[in-house]
Amino acid sequence: MTIAHVLGYPRIGADRELKKASEAYWKGDIDRQDLEAEGRELRRRHWAAQREAGLDLVTVGDFAFYDQVLNVSTLLGAVPARFGAEHEVARGEVDLDTAFRMARGRAPSGEPAAACEMTKYFDTNYHYLVPELYPRQRFQLASTRLFDEVAEAREQGHAVKVALTGPLTWLWLGKGRGDHAEAFDRLSLLDGVLEVYDQVLARLAAQGVEWVQLDEPALVQDLPADWKQAYERAYHRLQAAPLKLLLATYFGGLGDNLSLAVGLPVDGLHLDAVRAPEQVEAVVDRLLPHKVLSLGVIDGRNVWRADLAALRGRLVPLATRLGDRLWLAPSCSLLHVPVDLAAESELDDELKGWLAFARQKLDETVLLGRALGARLSADDEARLAEAGVALAARRGSPRIHRPAVAERLAAVRDADSERASPYVDRVRAQRRRLDLPLFPTTTIGSFPQTAEIRAARRAHKAGELSCADYEARMEAEIEGAVRRQEALGLDMLVHGEAERNDMVEYFGERLDGFAFTRFGWVQSYGSRCVKPPILFGDVARQAPMTVRWSERAQSLTDKPMKGMLTGPVTILQWSFVRDDQPRATTCRQIALALRDEVADLEAAGIQAIQIDEPALREGLPLRQAEWQGYLDWAVDCFRLSAAVAADATQIHTHMCYSEFNDIIGAIAALDADVITIETSRSDMELLDAFRDFAYPNEIGPGVYDIHSPNIPEVDWMVALMDKAAERIPVDRLWVNPDCGLKTRGWAEVEPALANMVEAARVLRRRH
Ligand code: GLN
Ligand code: ZN
Repeated sequence: MTIAHVLGYPRIGADRELKKASEAYWKGDIDRQDLEAEGRELRRRHWAAQREAGLDLVTVGDFAFYDQVLNVSTLLGAVPARFGAEHEVARGEVDLDTAFRMARGRAPSGEPAAACEMTKYFDTNYHYLVPELYPRQRFQLASTRLFDEVAEAREQGHAVKVALTGPLTWLWLGKGRGDHAEAFDRLSLLDGVLEVYDQVLARLAAQGVEWVQLDEPALVQDLPADWKQAYERAYHRLQAAPLKLLLATYFGGLGDNLSLAVGLPVDGLHLDAVRAPEQVEAVVDRLLPHKVLSLGVIDGRNVWRADLAALRGRLVPLATRLGDRLWLAPSCSLLHVPVDLAAESELDDELKGWLAFARQKLDETVLLGRALGARLSADDEARLAEAGVALAARRGSPRIHRPAVAERLAAVRDADSERASPYVDRVRAQRRRLDLPLFPTTTIGSFPQTAEIRAARRAHKAGELSCADYEARMEAEIEGAVRRQEALGLDMLVHGEAERNDMVEYFGERLDGFAFTRFGWVQSYGSRCVKPPILFGDVARQAPMTVRWSERAQSLTDKPMKGMLTGPVTILQWSFVRDDQPRATTCRQIALALRDEVADLEAAGIQAIQIDEPALREGLPLRQAEWQGYLDWAVDCFRLSAAVAADATQIHTHMCYSEFNDIIGAIAALDADVITIETSRSDMELLDAFRDFAYPNEIGPGVYDIHSPNIPEVDWMVALMDKAAERIPVDRLWVNPDCGLKTRGWAEVEPALANMVEAARVLRRRH
């Protein structure tokens, strides 16, 4: 009998119950007991769903009030000193509010302190709290939550498998802090960490737990030699635990870590057979005869229904070979997909038939497991057949395949990604036309999304505000934004993006090939969720998407108005995309649609067009060897969107992260006339990469942090720009904030921008 299990289930709740409860707790609307009760209820429901679907084991340990990596930090007593939790650690129970303070800087009880850093978990859009590591750091078992949850699940009569981030991945995700943090060797802490893992495993064994899944996705990345050795050392030690260990790897193939992973003394190994199916054979050939192989065959990172018949064909020989040593699961935790398709009342049945969310993926896993057995009930046969029919329909559907899109893509030539002239020539045409001062000032695009704007959008969606009235409101907002920018004295204006709910959704709603869910929420961090569009078919633009707003805005002013688009890579990256063609192909289709928009904006008299690519960097593959291949097509897609612009049309782009060193060549290859970036918190040191590369085009290094409500001082911004001017020639520098201003209020935006404009004036006098 094939065991069916999951590496983890979404904890947020089908109706985002966890989000609502946590936020209510933080606000003081509910108390601790209520919050804990909601957590218990969600766990109960999620285990029940797993059991009901027919999984053989329910997974405990995937629940977190904020983040599963933070859970391990508290489990290990790794609470930075500034949170003043020594007594809690010594007592062996870090308080929930301490964990919340680590995550958010404050909680209903305890002193506020600087929150821990948050960053993306591998190549997902999920953010974890970065463990802070110090030389000679001590660890001790400092939370009983995991054990309590195990007891809870057992009381509910479940067969339990525990899931826990493995010790090496936890260290891998951590960062050295304090003096000499750069040189700090995280592995120096391994023994201390393992000591606590020993205790955790012993205690779980004493509770009667048979299997513990240790998540070690770091094994799909490039590991230095000492880390590989550390894996050997760690797992040789942990194998002494009186229970069975399942080593879980996902998000990619083991690659050069394959022998290492296969050889570790554990009782089972989980592979991602969706992202890296080719590794399965090699592992099976080398698997010791007592080990379990858990195959992640259902896609845990995407929303498509699985091709169960094809999987059955592939897996039957393996099942014959491995017998009940073969386990089945989704490729990774289902944390990364929405909860339940059944809630989607507004998606049409045909499209729904192509999809599977977390709850449906449980059923798929179980059904596939049964399909490998000797006999399938008539019911199961029918369900399998139904899946096959739906997939065949998807493969042939005219909603997905638009011949015109394929033809256009096939006709694209290299020259289509080239501007007519190189930057040195374009810049002359642009300066003649735009007539901007030295240190031109601009903003990144969005202005405050006020309560009135959001209320108008809600009323419009609910049918309470007519299209005409809604548009009139947005036009009034745009006019207000233009007037304010003129009064502030900015040089290049923006329309303010009032009409956009979200920078990807706005475009997806206007393009063929995208669908939107009502409840398709996926946890991004803590209580924050995103609802990515589903890109199911060939992408085509029926009509201009932004032109009327930009045109209207331009008509209100003599200053140049920047058109504002979301770039192809970012639209791709922040959507669930089709799995029936390469990502590069999908991205090219988006690029062509945007190219038409660029052409239309230009034809409407827009002289500068910004194509935002904040997600370019996060698309980087987990293995360095694959970076160049990705960057090649990603850069080409951007260029394909932009290159239709005439020389005199200035193409801007924007990115808001602070690591450019290793991708600066690709950034330069975008060949945007102007790039605006986040720099204010790096003291302009970020520009070293641009200087060292001799980055040839214009740069607007952000001069103030838009995440903070503080009003930046003139002198401070001047000083930052002076530092920028040490690195970049002054005639190629712009003055702008770090990012868009949609999350701020006008009361902060106006004085901040007034100071920024004043700073530019000071700079002009000086240079
Ligand atoms: N133009 C967008 C804005 O100003 C850019 C947002 C982003 O970089 N994420 O909001
Ligand atoms: Zn930004």
